[in-house]
Amino acid sequence: MALTNPAQVVDISAALTALEPLGADQYCIAFGPGATQFCATPNGYSTTQLPRKVVKDLLGGQLRKVLHASFGSDANSYFFTYERRGGGITHRAGGGIPTGLKSFVNRISSASKERASSLRVQLGANGSYVAWAGSLWASRRISEGLRAVLHHMSSTDFDETNGSQGVLMSGTIDNIAWHDNSSWYFKNGDAYAELCTSRGAELLRAAWDNLTHTNLAYIAIDPHSPTGGTFAFFEKAQDGREPNFVLRFEPEDIVSRLHSKRNPPPSYNQVINVPKDLEGLQVFQWAVSRYTGRSHARDSWELELKKGERVKSLKYMGKDWFLVENQRRQHGWVHRSWLDFQQMIPHVDPREAYARFTVDVEKMLKTGNIRTFPDLPRYMNACTKDICSPRKTDPHCLGICYHDLHELMRGSGDYCLDTLKMERNKWHPDRFARYCHPDHRETLREKAQALFVLFGVLMDMFENPPAPELAA
Ligand SMILES: [Zn+2]
Repeated sequence: MALTNPAQVVDISAALTALEPLGADQYCIAFGPGATQFCATPNGYSTTQLPRKVVKDLLGGQLRKVLHASFGSDANSYFFTYERRGGGITHRAGGGIPTGLKSFVNRISSASKERASSLRVQLGANGSYVAWAGSLWASRRISEGLRAVLHHMSSTDFDETNGSQGVLMSGTIDNIAWHDNSSWYFKNGDAYAELCTSRGAELLRAAWDNLTHTNLAYIAIDPHSPTGGTFAFFEKAQDGREPNFVLRFEPEDIVSRLHSKRNPPPSYNQVINVPKDLEGLQVFQWAVSRYTGRSHARDSWELELKKGERVKSLKYMGKDWFLVENQRRQHGWVHRSWLDFQQMIPHVDPREAYARFTVDVEKMLKTGNIRTFPDLPRYMNACTKDICSPRKTDPHCLGICYHDLHELMRGSGDYCLDTLKMERNKWHPDRFARYCHPDHRETLREKAQALFVLFGVLMDMFENPPAPELAA
């Protein structure tokens, strides 16, 4: 099935506002790959891009609070914990969470109601996770240092092929965060709380050193940021004032708020929630920067641009400001006057497009007797280059160019030779023809052949990267 409405934006701001905020000093900042983010704070909730099922849960009106959330590398790898209106705790797990985690979740869920209620899951990059329920925990692919701490704090623990498990000596896990660069934070009640930073995480260390640790409420480290330099620290609220916090979105400078500071810059709103401004986001729009630099050179929340650079406008933030992502996946605010939208087509996030494409193709192959070729532009139609236009509009061709296919495959979250090879194999003309209805076999074989070749182009370019403008 093709996308019915690729540009549809589901507005969940009302649903988020209807939720009860977390209690004092309770936070959950969940960073996902790309622009995905979910924040729950005592001030309310905010988000960019959520999994479809979570959006449905939120719109269902049955939830009182979102207690915890985390995102893995894959679009389908996520875990949310809700408190329901009628009382009781439920979870929403994405189908793409690691196998070992699934069995831990199943085991806990089939135990007592109390045990299941205490289940929390922290997902990280590259299939890493730590899940816990009461004193029980399970983990996989975390750094040796963090694994050692879990060992140290446990009365019993062991490693299996599918990950590690153990039982804490006391309490439960209150806060855990890590990045592949070996930085991590772990808090186990009053028994243990420590931040470990590796080389290259100097800013994280500096931010930590500037805080009063005894007064710390919460720490989040973005596991998906390039070098582990995206993080958030919140202190406990005192004397009814808004709590101090420190934030950094790699590669921008650290921003922090002390209670004396007034009128925080708009980037604070990304994490410090302003529910009425926010909505679910599933589309973005290409734009080209008109100038080099920032419109206000000293405002670090603005994204630094290069003239002619192709960027993604992820979200309209109001008052002519856009949240923009550049090709290095860095985020920041950009004023409308700096962006040339060049009549480019708004389309779904590549991750969502890729997920739908994969599901649709698998379904199509499973059903067999194929009579029509997938309508590829419905998944990705990003390129508006003149040179590609004749091929894209020719009804005998695929309707997409290699730029579009590149964009779609980037949504796999793992753009590499193996992924391209694996995807290409699905379209091997002889293999594909076997799934086709005899009346249409020859035309479909030709289309599959064309797509097979297009994947080959991407593979060639991956191995021999040409001029940087291709990545656009
Ligand atoms: Zn193109």
